Amino acid sequence: MSGQNKPHGCVLEADGTNQWHESAIMSDGAKGSDEILATVRRFWGFDSLRPLQEQAIHAGLDRRDSLVVMPTGGGKSLCYQVPPAVAKRTDIVISPLIALMKDQVDALRACGYPAAALHSAMDPAEIRAAEHEIAVGNHHLIFVAPERMLTPRFLELAERLRVSTFAIDEAHCISHWGHDFRPEYRQLAELKTRFPKASVHAYTATATERVRTDIVEQLRLENPAVLVGSFDRPNLLYRVIPKVRVDEQVRAALERHRGEAAIVYCISRKDTESMARYLASCGIRAAHYHAGMEAEERRRTQDRFAAEEIDVVVATVAFGMGIDRSDIRCVIHAAIPKTIEHYQQETGRAGRDGLAAECVLLYSAGDVLRWKDLIERSAAQANAPPEVAENGRRMLEEIRRFATVARCRHAALSAYFGESYPKPNCGACDLCLDEEEGVGDATVIAQKVLSCVARVEQRFGVEHVVDVLTGVGNERVRRWRHHELSTFGLLQEMPRKNLTSVIYQLIDAEVLERTPGDRPVLKLNAASWEVMRGQRQVKLLEPKKLKAARTAMEEDTWRGVDAELFEKLRALRRELAVARRVAAFVILHDSALRELARRQPVSLAELRKLRGIGEKKIADFGKRLVEQIASHQANKPAPAQNSEKPG
Ligand code: ADP
Ligand code: ZN
Repeated sequence: MSGQNKPHGCVLEADGTNQWHESAIMSDGAKGSDEILATVRRFWGFDSLRPLQEQAIHAGLDRRDSLVVMPTGGGKSLCYQVPPAVAKRTDIVISPLIALMKDQVDALRACGYPAAALHSAMDPAEIRAAEHEIAVGNHHLIFVAPERMLTPRFLELAERLRVSTFAIDEAHCISHWGHDFRPEYRQLAELKTRFPKASVHAYTATATERVRTDIVEQLRLENPAVLVGSFDRPNLLYRVIPKVRVDEQVRAALERHRGEAAIVYCISRKDTESMARYLASCGIRAAHYHAGMEAEERRRTQDRFAAEEIDVVVATVAFGMGIDRSDIRCVIHAAIPKTIEHYQQETGRAGRDGLAAECVLLYSAGDVLRWKDLIERSAAQANAPPEVAENGRRMLEEIRRFATVARCRHAALSAYFGESYPKPNCGACDLCLDEEEGVGDATVIAQKVLSCVARVEQRFGVEHVVDVLTGVGNERVRRWRHHELSTFGLLQEMPRKNLTSVIYQLIDAEVLERTPGDRPVLKLNAASWEVMRGQRQVKLLEPKKLKAARTAMEEDTWRGVDAELFEKLRALRRELAVARRVAAFVILHDSALRELARRQPVSLAELRKLRGIGEKKIADFGKRLVEQIASHQANKPAPAQNSEKPG
């Protein structure tokens, strides 16, 4: 590593001073890059490291404190997995969730990497057995929860093993400025007291400047290497679509990903249940997930998703940490999330394997108002100081702007996280792909809506105005004699849902207002009158019918892949996973499966040349894989049409 230049897409700085310290974390050469790469190749079958991974691994080898901020899918785990394997030592990883720990240990063992976890879901006998195994010193990594770390019993074990390096996963949990504060993380400040010579390495996917500073201070990191990766996820395609008929729109998006893994996020528990039912009735393998379910039932849904028995989980925000499926091809927000941080984190679960994935946000201003209400009510219930609701509203306003302003989604997200975005056209968002469809006579429609609001004397809500404009002569309309108005039935050709969407778009564009409170009423403002007088133009959007066809980016990741073989290999993966009682991704990632279905190795020697399959996996099931490929080829005399097999 020679890098005197600032690596692209990341900053490297010492805490507080803002100076570049790249040379300071250069490795001593004894454990050079060759050895690191050999280790990565042997266990994981990867040919190269990502720029920030290399730096983080060097910090781990040099035992220099570090704070590594990398987006989900950025490859944080490798950063703390490689150093102990290269240095032949035992490191400790502190992680907040048992589910996460178990999956990580399973995945590591499948690669032949010795690791163990101690957690509260194990019974005393299992704990004793694991402790014994650990004491023998054969593991590179031990995963523990923060509350166990500082128990006398575990401290003693760590001291006996002469542990010199600690990695702290999800480090933002230590900061109450973060979105996931966990009081038990606070005790980790003691690590530096108990192990004064040890280095501590903090990892997180989300950290604002304030949270970063907090992590460094709380953990008492000394002159840490602060490595911040780019937040942009180039393989994610972002789409924001005006919400009209949520069920059908969610289904249409999922149709683009038949048989692939997807998550649908809803605001309420009830919404998740009805949406899952609807999707199941359309033949989609879906289940719901929310915090109101029994722990057992939640676990089952999670397991079925990991085992590929279901494709779609319809969930509240409760579904999150702990899903480690890396082949999620689609994340849909059936309603806007309440902050950009949530959006980034939830969409971040898509495409962790680096392959193209789609993120759809169904936007309606009505949902924003629903959140506003929820934020205010929960702050009032908790008797929180006024700043709490204020902060909630401010963050909500940020995401509302993200969804409604016509700016490249990748650029807008980067800007929010304080990064500049280099490309003028990302090629991976609805705006850059020019998918927005404007309504032709938008201003005329707006004028009709606004004059109706004027005619009903600004005393009614959305429902009633829609009734009048579409010509519904119901009891309330008749009582107020609104069926006699000139605006009655003025937009009767427009479907009700579309008209509702139009009204919310007008509210968003601030040419119409809606009063707060329990019985909101539509009101006009100065801008409304400008529109009615023809002094101001209005833009309205209509959800465009997206073709089922793949985007160029998706095409790329499928290029040369024999789709039929891919499905056969996927079935084989499922079978292997079930037999070993591990999640499917523990066996192989989708990227490795596609590479197999593309290059079609029929011998172990050919298989070794592929990316993403380490030695242990080749030894364990390489033979099954190449046999499957050979039999596929035998049943299909001509080679796959679009195969790019060399030679
Ligand atoms: P994070 O913990 O940052 O969310 P992971 O460590 O789970 O990310 O890694 C995300 C994905 O990237 C995994 O599928 C992993 O196998 C893959 N990956 C990590 N590092 C590399 C690399 N150097 N080359 C290829 N794939 C990698
Ligand atoms: Zn864009």
